[in-house]
Amino acid sequence: MLVMKFGGTSVGKPERMKKIAKLVTETPGQKVVVLSALSGTTNTLVAIGEHLLGNRAEAAEAEIDSLEKHYQNFVEELYQTENFKAIGREIVSRFFVFMRLLAAGQFDDKSYRELLAQGELISTEMFYQYLQEQKINARLLPALHFMSIDENEEPELEKIAGRLRPLIASLQHIDIIITQGYICRNHRNEIDNLKRGGSDYTASLIGAALQAEEIQIWTDIDGMHNNDPRVVNKTVPVSELTFDEASELAYFGAKILHPSTIVPAQKYNIPVRLKNTMDEKAPGTLISNKGTSGACKAVAAKDGITAINIKSSRMLMAYGFLRKVFEVFERYKTPIDMISTSEVAVSLTIDNTRYLNEITGELKKFGSIEVDTDQTIVCIVGQRISGQKGILERVFKALHDIPVRMVSAGGSANNISILIPSSFKKQALLALNEQLFGLI
Ligand code: ADP
Ligand code: ASP
Ligand code: MG
Repeated sequence: MLVMKFGGTSVGKPERMKKIAKLVTETPGQKVVVLSALSGTTNTLVAIGEHLLGNRAEAAEAEIDSLEKHYQNFVEELYQTENFKAIGREIVSRFFVFMRLLAAGQFDDKSYRELLAQGELISTEMFYQYLQEQKINARLLPALHFMSIDENEEPELEKIAGRLRPLIASLQHIDIIITQGYICRNHRNEIDNLKRGGSDYTASLIGAALQAEEIQIWTDIDGMHNNDPRVVNKTVPVSELTFDEASELAYFGAKILHPSTIVPAQKYNIPVRLKNTMDEKAPGTLISNKGTSGACKAVAAKDGITAINIKSSRMLMAYGFLRKVFEVFERYKTPIDMISTSEVAVSLTIDNTRYLNEITGELKKFGSIEVDTDQTIVCIVGQRISGQKGILERVFKALHDIPVRMVSAGGSANNISILIPSSFKKQALLALNEQLFGLI
């Protein structure tokens, strides 16, 4: 069993959808094909949802109208026969009637999440009908029948496996099983999602649930690059990564993978292969438990970080102090990314600022608080990198003109993390590219 996930750009144009139909048909054996929404759709659905929550019905309607036109054009190009063009038009009209119904009703958070789910629901239905037109034997398996998260928004892997295995067993004669990425049901049985970029996570959860041979993530680039290609011009693909390395890169901003993708794959030791839909011959990146050690593999950056500094000459050395600090973050379900301590102060970083005011309000009991927003974590990743001789010297040589706010090395053997103001991100990534990879 293979899991093949295709992202937004891979399904974003009719000719790309046709190409992936060919690709999955030519790949031997049974596979679960996980599809995202067409590129740009989820962004538009977010915009529509925000308009509706903000009572801007007209702006929402204008967005819905232009999205509908996009889909109407899409189906005209996707299907060849009049028969299937009519099926395509029916799908589009049904989805947009439903979206307008959602928009016209009492629009709350629940309807918002239902609206966000429409992108993957429509893309998979259109793709399934395209395979039907091509007389390719396939089935559409609704993700909402098996994918679920608990009250802490964590996927319920065992329950997912318990539901999915019998479904797949009943489809043994079907080679191509299509399902939606990103969407799931929550503990109230409502439609929910695995957060932006979550289709990668769907693929790895399915891979783990079915103990697949391999999880393939097909996207618009030839694998994980050594640096962020959106920021740095000269980047190169990395051919192999360990699960730990890939996990750190995904968590710290390498957008090619949803931050949690590697976790289920690593748990069941299922290799994850990153491949390029636009260039299927390119080797891509293989992520597995076998990895070359002693190298600096890649750099990633995570924006939107807030640093909180707690200064307390009285309390920091007292035992139990850090526990009290951590308990505040735990109460507000806010994960901490980086931490550094001295005798009189502790600095922590968070990316979820939903409860920032409540958290700082409570931390004030312990000392004086300073908050810095618009920070970026730059993360340098490689097997056992933090123990490598001379690595810190090279990193700091690259960053000598940049005001470094925090450093964390040694916490994880595979990463060195540096906190800098976001305005210095580009400069830092370029300098590290030159100093660590010789790429100018
Ligand atoms: P998809 O729609 O297929 O899920 P994404 O846009 O989510 O695709 O992810 C692919 C994008 O991730 C690439 O186009 C690239 O700009 C970005 N990216 C960020 N960091 C990296 C990296 N280190 N290596 C490769 N791609 C990266
Ligand atoms: N369509 C969703 C998003 O844009 C999920 C994904 O593409 O992975 O976030
Ligand atoms: Mg993605």
